Amino acid sequence: MGKKIIYQFIIISFLLICIVSAITMYSTKNNSIKASIHNAELISRIVKNDLTSYMVNNNVKQIDSYINSMASIDNVKNLWLVRADSVSNQFGINKNQEPKDDIDKKVLKTGEIEYKLNESLLYSSMRITVPYKATFDNGIDCLSCHTASAGETLGAVSMELDISELKNIGLEAIYLIPIIMIVGILLIFFIFKNKLEQDNLIFDSISKSLSSSLNGNLRKISYSKGLSKDMILLMEKFNRLMVTFKDTSTDIDKKLKGFIGTKTNKFTNPLEDSKEIVQNLSNLYQFKKEIELDNTKEEIYNRLSEIFTNQFKITSFTFIEIDLSKRKMTTVKEIGNTFYCKENIENEPHLCRAARTENDVITTEYHHTCPYFEKVDKFHYCISTSISKNINLIINFVFDDKDKLEYLKEKISFIKSYINESAPSIEVKLLIEALQQSAFRDGLTGLYNRKFLEEHTKKLIPQALRDKFNIGVLLLDMDHFKAVNDEYGHDIGDKVLKELARILNETTRESDIIIRYGGEEFIVLLVNIKTEEQAISVANKIRIKVSENEIDVYAGSKLRKTVSIGLSMFPEDSSSLESVIKNADIALYEAKSKGRNQVVRFQSEQTSSIDLF
Ligand code: GH3
Ligand code: MG
Ligand code: MG
Repeated sequence: MGKKIIYQFIIISFLLICIVSAITMYSTKNNSIKASIHNAELISRIVKNDLTSYMVNNNVKQIDSYINSMASIDNVKNLWLVRADSVSNQFGINKNQEPKDDIDKKVLKTGEIEYKLNESLLYSSMRITVPYKATFDNGIDCLSCHTASAGETLGAVSMELDISELKNIGLEAIYLIPIIMIVGILLIFFIFKNKLEQDNLIFDSISKSLSSSLNGNLRKISYSKGLSKDMILLMEKFNRLMVTFKDTSTDIDKKLKGFIGTKTNKFTNPLEDSKEIVQNLSNLYQFKKEIELDNTKEEIYNRLSEIFTNQFKITSFTFIEIDLSKRKMTTVKEIGNTFYCKENIENEPHLCRAARTENDVITTEYHHTCPYFEKVDKFHYCISTSISKNINLIINFVFDDKDKLEYLKEKISFIKSYINESAPSIEVKLLIEALQQSAFRDGLTGLYNRKFLEEHTKKLIPQALRDKFNIGVLLLDMDHFKAVNDEYGHDIGDKVLKELARILNETTRESDIIIRYGGEEFIVLLVNIKTEEQAISVANKIRIKVSENEIDVYAGSKLRKTVSIGLSMFPEDSSSLESVIKNADIALYEAKSKGRNQVVRFQSEQTSSIDLF
């Protein structure tokens, strides 16, 4: 920095000296010319006056010796008279006064003063010719002797002047000015050198301190005691600023990291870190606001997945919900098809190390952290987050290379802050889901209730009509159930109902829908049953199983019950499910009246033959 300033100083000084010298040279030359012209005019005026007086006094013979004497004046190298043609015509030709060169001829022609500079290194001269004009001047009337018109050029005085001396004076000035300037500049330089060096040192220190500050290392600058008071004050203020700035930014950084849970010990730039943390906090805040408005947990998982993909550039991960108490695992979302441990833990989710330990499970270099993640050429990072009392959310990140795993480790606190923000919202959605489920379920038997039937048929019936499949509707009623209550009490009555629910679950297919329709009345929707014979067969299967089932009542005594079943087919019997259920009820009534423990297929004649309502 110091050298740079000195070079700039030298260049500026040199340019300044050149400019000043050039201006001086130019003005010296100009002055020399002006002085020479002035001298020449002076000489010519003297010569003119003297010649006129010689001519008036008829002393023409002395003119030549006069000219010679004038020519011997210092600095006049040569001097001669030139006679115009009009004068030669009037007074005769004088060979000594004929034009000697082009300058003479030009002056006689134009009547204007002419000059020419002849310069060499050591010697300079000026060739100059001044015209004489026919005038009435100083009481001398040229026109009284000359046959000429006023202002006509009668002749000229030509001379050659030695201007070397004038030039030398100018040159002396040219030599002198740069010398004076150099001396002056050197003086200024040495006077300010000390201060300049100090300023440079300080400038360098401040510059280094600022550079290191930009890299996150805010540091004070050291300075010697020899500095001026102003400089010391400046240094003190700078250092105070740095200390305050460092303390504040470290404080912000610590608080923000504490807030977001970053625990990194490696050297970082607190300013850059704070910027990143604030940016992430702002994103997190936005994320939190958005998930609060989400309807389902799937929307929240989608949003989390977008954050991982777009913000953290992670391309392979799986969301898994594990209920350790029920040993149940649900794969919620899979991005990149990398749920490599799925087969190992699918049926035994309690084996998932992350779920079991509720700790992060990360690929290490030296041993197999999780025995169920068998892809040795891949890297994984599993996070477990408690969603509710029993459910853990496991996020299984998978990477092809170690650098990406390291990047995730660096960003893990941010990633976890998103997951932790999501957890309560996911829990709420799970609770709502469970609540909705319970609203559709019967508390005693765990079967669907009438409300579910109403809701579900809104979707099921159009689907059946569209896809053209049958639904067999069985309406079951326990025979003489009242007697059970009366004989054994309501608890045994409840037990009998639960047994019936179990038999219904065991006898029907997964796709069939079992509903507790009323007290001891049940509906089974045989979805997509091919024929009514098949429906009758299922109904009879139920009936027989119920009749064969022995229920422990108390002290080793057993109870057997029977059911009556009415069957109607959708859409064969009616295009409205409501009517089909009514038909099944009519058939059930007939089964009861025929002696119970039987299955009756609804026939259209039954409507008129049985007085129901
Ligand atoms: P039927 O063969 O004609 O059907 O004779 P029944 O005695 O079964 O007659 P009904 O179907 O009218 O009897 C229904 C009885 O079921 C009346 C009620 O006390 C009983 N009940 C209804 N809901 C429950 C329940 O949740 N628990 C128990 N224990 N009993 C119930
Ligand atoms: Mg009944
Ligand atoms: Mg009954």
